[in-house]
Amino acid sequence: MRPEALNPLFAEVTTLEGVGPKLMKPLEKLGLTRVKDVAYHLPERFVSRQAIADLDSGSEGEQVIVALTAIEHRAPRAGSRGPYRVLAQDAVGNVCTLTWFGKAAYSAKKLVPVGEKRWVAGRLDRYGDMLQIVHPDHIEAESAANMGRLSEPVYRLSDGLTQPRIADFVRQSLNRLPALPEWIEPGQLERAGWPAWADALRLGHETTDAKALDRLAYDELLANSLALLLVKAEGRRRKGQALAGDGSLRAKLQLPFALTGAQARSIAEIAGDMAQEAPMLRLLQGDVGAGKTVVALNAMLIAVESGKQAALLAPTEILARQHFETLRKMLGPTGVEIALLTGRAKGRERESILMGLMDGSIQMLVGTHAIFQDTVNYRDLGLVVIDEQHRFGVAQRLALAAKGRRAPHTLAMTATPIPRSLTLAQYGEMDVSRLDELPPGRQAIDTRVVPQERMDEVVAGVERHLASGQQAYWVCPMVREIDGVPDLADIAAAEARYAALKERFGEAVVLVHGQLRPEVKDAAMERFASGQARLLVATTVIEVGVDVPSATLMVIEQAERFGLAQLHQLRGRVGRGAEKSTCLLLRGSALSETGRARLALMRETQDGFRIAEEDLALRGGGELLGTRQSGEAAFRIANLEQMQRLLPIAHGDARLLMDRDGGLTSPRGEAARLLLYLFERDWGVQLLRGG
Ligand code: ADP
Ligand code: MG
Repeated sequence: MRPEALNPLFAEVTTLEGVGPKLMKPLEKLGLTRVKDVAYHLPERFVSRQAIADLDSGSEGEQVIVALTAIEHRAPRAGSRGPYRVLAQDAVGNVCTLTWFGKAAYSAKKLVPVGEKRWVAGRLDRYGDMLQIVHPDHIEAESAANMGRLSEPVYRLSDGLTQPRIADFVRQSLNRLPALPEWIEPGQLERAGWPAWADALRLGHETTDAKALDRLAYDELLANSLALLLVKAEGRRRKGQALAGDGSLRAKLQLPFALTGAQARSIAEIAGDMAQEAPMLRLLQGDVGAGKTVVALNAMLIAVESGKQAALLAPTEILARQHFETLRKMLGPTGVEIALLTGRAKGRERESILMGLMDGSIQMLVGTHAIFQDTVNYRDLGLVVIDEQHRFGVAQRLALAAKGRRAPHTLAMTATPIPRSLTLAQYGEMDVSRLDELPPGRQAIDTRVVPQERMDEVVAGVERHLASGQQAYWVCPMVREIDGVPDLADIAAAEARYAALKERFGEAVVLVHGQLRPEVKDAAMERFASGQARLLVATTVIEVGVDVPSATLMVIEQAERFGLAQLHQLRGRVGRGAEKSTCLLLRGSALSETGRARLALMRETQDGFRIAEEDLALRGGGELLGTRQSGEAAFRIANLEQMQRLLPIAHGDARLLMDRDGGLTSPRGEAARLLLYLFERDWGVQLLRGG
């Protein structure tokens, strides 16, 4: 049970004044469901603004405050996805447009009634030859006194929220911070000169105080390290089962290839772990196409040879299906019973799988998170394999592990090349096997950077490619979000590109993006995987794991808008078969320095680990490998730069605390428990109580 001291922080957001049912959704979208989440919703940045007399005195890109009077409202045509625009005039008659996308448009009417003067604060941009302000940050009546304020926080928003609203909620949350005991070691606190927890939070909303922000980041890293260490300690304590396997099933495998040295070594490492009673906790790290599946298969066979069951967890329905097909083919001569369980299995089909798992007739299971729902019971689960593990939290992994009568062995696989300096944050002290050698016969992917203007040539190239009987991917920029509203222009771009290519190639083209219903998406994917469709137009949903060896051309539009890690993952979709593959990176004309550097690096190397290191260097304090986009970022406060600098310290401190007080019962241990709850690493604490 959560300690009482934290109750004010864990109160629902609806207990904040002004949060009704209507605002719950937008807050939830930002991950803000409790008071503590709001208190930790630190500003993205601060802006300084000057009130300007008229639009002539503001320049493009500048944050301004200006008095405007609305002269005309232009609502989008019914059924169109266009924005809501308001034409407004300044004191000397200059006209500009105020623009709202999505649901935010509903408020526009009331905010700027025609004929009334308002203070409008926001970023002055140009749209065609008109000045415009998109989603103004503030609109206040003419009489408002505070509009001249110079520096103010800018928070990440979602559709339906405004800056003043969220600022008010933040203020209320900060007023409710309870007094908590200090969890940071006094020596560390003093050395670093950090403020106390509550002060650090308050400062974090007022200024870019480095000490305050460092303290908050350290807290998060400390919580993470502690939780991972608790898992490790639990793993050591909990009994597993030694699974040696007699090799009988593995001997029956008829693989169309010989294992690489790296695969053989990884399998040996895994077999060594599984033969021990202590549960394995191993990470298999290997670039896309390195051949992780067959390693997983060997591990799963060891479990089955030992009379146990093995489960493979995939991050998406599509991948689960693909793994299932691949494994079933490879298993052919072994006679092993394998089943697929996803959220879509219903009724009789589902019942029979559940029965088979319970009576042990199903020996291997592949599926999405549906495979560890409460209703799924295994007769004797010996091994859990988790593919693309960064999509799942450690908490879920433990939920799955708890299913076995004795702790099953765990093998996590990832193609995300994480820089060495960050593996600790992501994976704690897991043992690591690395597939650092690609299967033989792989040819380097011919990577070229092509200006977007040469589109016609590119399309002609695709045509030749398809005519030769091969397949191709065409990726459009990711679906970006403006204030929580998916950038309609992006979706439109993918859809428009699809329409244009369809005109040319007809039924051979399919479209996949994140806004489609899952069935529609899967159907399109399957048409492509089976070879019926030849060209797949997509946003980044194809990023993870999809394997179509005869797809040998990858076109990436506006490649400069993608992160390096993402480009690398995307490119990894081709170059999987024996044929030579090509990757065309189309670039826009306005290329930034970083954009240029990224594309150059992509041309130069295919080494995922090197790309990851350079990505880190190029981004500085940015996000970790796009995890934030997936909405499942492990870290909400600490940025990359802080992770590199503070993680070694936090991890060392966590170890020290665990060494002295593994049960977290000393005063500082008790305080640390609060921290684990605060950062939702309480699965760590739960383990303590279980023991
Ligand atoms: P990963 O999951 O690591 O991205 P896969 O397991 O999907 O990679 O393997 C990629 C492709 O390489 C598959 O088509 C697989 O059959 C093939 N492959 C795997 N190991 C070898 C090997 N040792 N020799 C040749 N081909 C291999
Ligand atoms: Mg894979």
